[in-house]
This record gives sequence, structure tokens and C-alpha cells, in this order.
Amino acid sequence: MDKALLLNAYREAVDGMRKGNFKVTLPEVDNKEDPLALLGQELVQLGIALDQRFEQIGKIQKISQDISGGSFTHGVLDRVYETFHQLIPYDRIGCALITEDWGHVRAWWAKANYPERLRIRAGYQAKLAGSSLETIIATGEPRILNDLEAHLEAHPKSVSTRLIVAEGIRSSLTCPLIAEGKPVGFLFFSSREKNTYHSEDRLAFMEIAGHLSTLIERSRFYQQIHDLNQELLRAQDALKEQALRDALTGLLNHGAILESLDEHLARAQRQFEPLSILMVDVDHFKKINDSYGHLVGDTVLKAVAATLQACLRGHDRLGRYGGEEFLIVLGGTPLEAAQQVAERIRAEVAALQLNSGDETLSVTISIGVTAPKPNTTEQPTSLLARADAALYEAKREGRNRVHTAAVG
Ligand code: GH3
Ligand code: MG
Ligand code: MG
Repeated sequence: MDKALLLNAYREAVDGMRKGNFKVTLPEVDNKEDPLALLGQELVQLGIALDQRFEQIGKIQKISQDISGGSFTHGVLDRVYETFHQLIPYDRIGCALITEDWGHVRAWWAKANYPERLRIRAGYQAKLAGSSLETIIATGEPRILNDLEAHLEAHPKSVSTRLIVAEGIRSSLTCPLIAEGKPVGFLFFSSREKNTYHSEDRLAFMEIAGHLSTLIERSRFYQQIHDLNQELLRAQDALKEQALRDALTGLLNHGAILESLDEHLARAQRQFEPLSILMVDVDHFKKINDSYGHLVGDTVLKAVAATLQACLRGHDRLGRYGGEEFLIVLGGTPLEAAQQVAERIRAEVAALQLNSGDETLSVTISIGVTAPKPNTTEQPTSLLARADAALYEAKREGRNRVHTAAVG
């Protein structure tokens, strides 16, 4: 073999590697023990190692992209499980996090090719103090156990080892997860075969764990932001809902019931559908306040509100229009039917027996009923004025009654 030819091939191989081509092919040599031939073999091995490292980095970058795409921690770990097979052999991957108080390690995610037999799964918790995981934290180095049955014999009290052996696992690689210099948990690669993991791979494991640590920590952070955001949205919805409600009765407040009337009236006029409204007022309510006090008055208002609500169907709208006045919007209901509803409501309220101390008090209501003028685009204010006038009539006629304002 021509030495110059060989050296030239090496030079070309190195040049190729510099350009990202790690597949080294060298001419055949007669004497494989020749130092120059051995150097060639080293070059081939270096090419293979670099190729693998680049593949690893590529995969880690791909996972990074997924996270930037918004998938959260479980998604990241699922991706790790799917992707890392060519880099590390495993039948199972688990992730556990150190609890806030540093007392325990809590399993948080696990995936295996034998899911039905998982003994250690999310929620499983073990004490950190005195466990072998403490050593991993102290050194920051991955730990390889290549014969877990032997390890269990030597540490018969290790519940976690017993469980994992019961799952069928025989060797494991544990990588510490370190975020911003602080240990946050562990990543467990496990195999059903003995002697799966090799200490030569330590450096690669460390690097993978390092990248994953940052990724997992980042996605946990995203998850927290996401959760917080959800909480804020819920609070915002609750606030919006509250803004529509009357504090005492929980019914729609003045603004909200008027808005509802606007919507219902516009729809009824557009679709030529019937609609009726009921204006309800508690009779002699001032007297109740005067005789029993304002607090009892409030209780009476709440009881009346609840009774009205109970008399209505789901799509009917009821609101507290003013102090002791309520407005009811009955969509799809013609005047005659509304009159019947009003009569039923009146009777239900009159039948109420309210307790105040030793006394039982009763209460009545008067109701004005009306509907929009047909074939017009009558304004809500005009409709309300007619309902008010009908209510006034009901009062004038002696209270505890229903008065209907004729339409058109
Ligand atoms: P009428 O039969 O003519 O309706 O007589 P009334 O006494 O019910 O009518 P009036 O309008 O004179 O009195 C209404 C009273 O309702 C006056 C007001 O102090 C009281 N009121 C308004 N809002 C509340 C409330 O939230 N709680 C209590 N306890 N009383 C209220
Ligand atoms: Mg009143
Ligand atoms: Mg009133």
C-alpha cells in the first residue's frame, strides 16, 4: 500500500468531515496492524461517533422546536420516548421530580412498551433522603445499574427497585435533571435486558440529560404560564358574569335585563315571533320594611325572586328591575299565555309562608303584562311604559292581581 496514497485518502476524509460528511471510506490495507492503518481505523470510528452526535443534536433541536410550538411537558417526554430509541436503548422511560420541600421524589410521567404492567407511574412517591438518588444529585452524574436483581439483593429495602424489577426491568440509566444549576428531578431510561448501558456513553447521556433538563424546565414554565392564563380567563369570565348579576337576589341586574329585552324584542320583530313582558312589583313592601326591618325585607325579596325564577322556563329571562320590582321577558310567548304565566306567579308568591322570628308573614305582588304592538318596530322604552301603566292599573284595582295592557 502506497503510504502517500493512504495519507491523501486521510486528508480527503478529514476534509469531508469538516464539510459535514462523516462517512469515512478508506482504501484496503494489507497489514491492519500497521500504525498508519490503525490511525485510519480511528478516523473511521471518529466519523461514526461524530455522525451519531450530530444526529443526537438534530433530535434535541427538533424537540426544542416542538416545545417552541407550544407542546407542554408531557408532550416533550412523549417525543423523547418516540425519538431517542436510536440514541439509547430502553423499554421504558420515566421522569420524576423533586418535591418543593426536597423531601420526596414524585413520579410524574412514565411510558413503557408494556403499559399495562407499570408499577411506578405518575403520582408514585418515594423519600429522597437516604435514597441512592441523593448520590446522583451530589455528583450530578448519571448512574448506571446493569443488574437490578443483584442491586435489589444488595438493597432489599428499596421499594422502588423492587417495583421496577417486578415490572420486568433489569438495567437502568438514571440521569439527573438540572435546571439553572439546581437539580429538579430525574430521568430514568430502563431496559428489560441486563447490561444495557455502557459507561463509555456517559458523556452523551450527560449531554442529553442537560438538554432535556432545560427543555423540561422550560416547558414546565410554559405550563405554569398556561395554567395561570387559564385561571385568569376563568376569573375574567366570573367577573363579567358578576357584573351582570344583582348582588342580593343573584338575578340579572337592571342593565342586563334591559339588554336581554333589547335582544329578545329585536329578534321577535325580525322573525315575527310572539313576545310578552311582565312587570312585577311587591305590594306594600315599604310596610314590610317598616314592620320587620330592612334585613327581613331583603329576605322577602330573595324569596320572591326565587319563586319567580322557579315559575319560569329555562329560556325565559328574569331580572331585578329596581328595588322591589322585577322584569320578566317571555320569548315566543303570546299575550294570553303570558297572562296565564303571570297569574300562576301571582298565586305562587301569595302562597309563600315566610318566617320572621315567631311570626309568619306573607307577601303579594302585582303584575303588569303586555306585548309589542304587532307589525311595528316598537321601541323597548314604549313597551316598558305600557307594562308600567298596566302594573299601575293592577295596583289601582286593589293589588295582588294581574292587569294586561291590550295591544293594537
Ligand atoms: P306598592 O304596593 O305601591 O308598590 O307599595 P310599596 O311600599 O311596595 O312601594 P314603595 O315604592 O313606596 O316602596 C318600595 C320600598 O322598597 C322602598 C324601599 O326602601 C324598599 N326597597 C328598595 N330596595 C330595597 C332593598 O334592596 N331591600 C329592602 N329591604 N328594601 C328595599
Ligand atoms: Mg311595591
Ligand atoms: Mg315599586
